[in-house]
Amino acid sequence: MSADNLVKVPRPRLAEWLMEPMRRNRSTYWKVAVAAVFINIFALLTALFTMTVYDRVVPNNAMSSLVALSIGLGIVIIFDFILKLLRAYFVDLAGASIDRDIGEEVFGRLLAIRLELKKGSTGALASLMRELEALRDFFASATLTAVVDVPFIFLTLLVVWLIGGPVVLVPALMVPLVILIGWLTHPALERLSARSLGEGMLKQSVLVEAIGGLETVKTAGAAPLLSRRWLKAVEQHSDSSLRQRMVSSIGVTFATSAGTISYAGVVIVGVNLIAEQELTMGGLIACSILAGRAIAPLAQISQLLSRLTSTRTAYRQLNQMMELPPEGPEGEPLKLSRIDGKIELRNVGFRYPGAPERALDEVSFSIEPGEHVALLGRVGSGKSTIARIILGLYPPEEGLILIDGTDIRQLAPADLRNAIGAAMQESVLLTGSVRENIVLDRPQVDDAEMLRVTEISGTHQFMGQIANGYDLKLADRGEGLSGGQRQSIAIARALAGRPPIVIMDEPSSAMDAQTETALIQRLQEELRGRTLIMITHRPPLLQLVQRIILLDKGKVVADGPRDAVLQKIMRPKAA
Ligand code: ATP
Ligand code: MG
Repeated sequence: MSADNLVKVPRPRLAEWLMEPMRRNRSTYWKVAVAAVFINIFALLTALFTMTVYDRVVPNNAMSSLVALSIGLGIVIIFDFILKLLRAYFVDLAGASIDRDIGEEVFGRLLAIRLELKKGSTGALASLMRELEALRDFFASATLTAVVDVPFIFLTLLVVWLIGGPVVLVPALMVPLVILIGWLTHPALERLSARSLGEGMLKQSVLVEAIGGLETVKTAGAAPLLSRRWLKAVEQHSDSSLRQRMVSSIGVTFATSAGTISYAGVVIVGVNLIAEQELTMGGLIACSILAGRAIAPLAQISQLLSRLTSTRTAYRQLNQMMELPPEGPEGEPLKLSRIDGKIELRNVGFRYPGAPERALDEVSFSIEPGEHVALLGRVGSGKSTIARIILGLYPPEEGLILIDGTDIRQLAPADLRNAIGAAMQESVLLTGSVRENIVLDRPQVDDAEMLRVTEISGTHQFMGQIANGYDLKLADRGEGLSGGQRQSIAIARALAGRPPIVIMDEPSSAMDAQTETALIQRLQEELRGRTLIMITHRPPLLQLVQRIILLDKGKVVADGPRDAVLQKIMRPKAA
């Protein structure tokens, strides 16, 4: 996600996923606008109060009028205070609601992202999600209300003109100047905020990788490498964000100075008018207060503009992700009422995105319901890839995958994966209890089912002994359990709910021989009548299967009854 490909993205119309939550909060924004209107009017009243006091009260020593005016002003101040509080509250309210809605939508899409289209590292994706905060902050910030103040710049100028005539020229000249400066700094800001975002992502990537693999980083001595990457990322990022802040503060600071200039300028011009008896003392003071105030929203606007650029950058990045097609068929997915477990691959060819070589080439086989098949092959021969393809994690480049005769592209991914119990090679556990990890909020898995599968997978042997074992909280990714224990939980997870198809990728690679033998015995019983694809390098597991498919470099090189294929492997061509 470099700055270049950001530029190419066409100017975004605010997409539905962002507009919709905002529209839903329309009424709140209206309240904010109404409050802002009153707050602006109150500000005018305050200036007029000063003018009246100077022009009427001071010369005539009219104390009773002063009291009346003060009471009036007091009421205005109280209302002003309440309205400002309300405005802040409403803005926050809208922000929180938008945050929740957008967050839900974006997170949903993140989980439905197509793996083959996923760009960037875990850290980059994580920081992309963090950009949601930037969006939320923008919509929830009081600066947004500055937009409502813009029309009041003209109203304020009008009042200045009515009171002071030509003095209005001073603030009226400042307004376009401030806008000009903002407009001039805008392109640089845009560029810098894109750069800063990209570099922030880089920083996040290093961070996430380091934290996620802390143990490996230590044991392998990768600390110096990562430190260097981190330092580089931090330096780059701080450089670009420093520039970004510098440029954006030019606009904001200039707007503040413009306020002072117009305040003082009005006084200077006004003194001449007083000499010519064209302006009263009170009028001059009111004009100078108002002139300063007319510029004030501009300072906010220029702040808003600089935030707008970074928000837009964040928005574009997020929108790129949101516009990727989600998983699953484009139209209405097919619903299969029952899945028997027939799996067929026809001439499947597949290449991982960006990979030079095909991981699968012309792979064809058919597995009958209830058949138990082992996928064997050397390291990197494409066994796990076949599992991924059958689970619909990646679409094949060519060929078809059929489950019970239906192309899996027509099925909803969640339905497909519900019908397949999969224990993948690198099964990852989630934070939470062991129970949560096995049940995963699936309605068809209750406590009895959980106990049944943990007996089979061997999880019960160690969890049953610990008091409240199933409520044992696991830290990140199942830390706190041994490798074999984690594996057995992954097996339980795959078996829970009796899916008609079971795929196991090296299910016993972290187990001792005894545990493995016991597991195989229990699996014999459990898997009867259900389709099994067993990927393994361990001979004992082959007891479970009747048939072996042998892969080499992504091609099927042998397919037949277990013992026949085993013999072929044992006595290669030379014999
Ligand atoms: P092992 O026995 O080591 O588990 P395998 O047969 O399961 O090996 P696969 O994981 O299917 O092998 O990988 C097949 C090929 O695809 C390998 O050459 C590998 O480099 C490549 N590959 C695997 N996963 C990816 C990925 N996510 N992106 C790109 N290439 C990948
Ligand atoms: Mg593998």
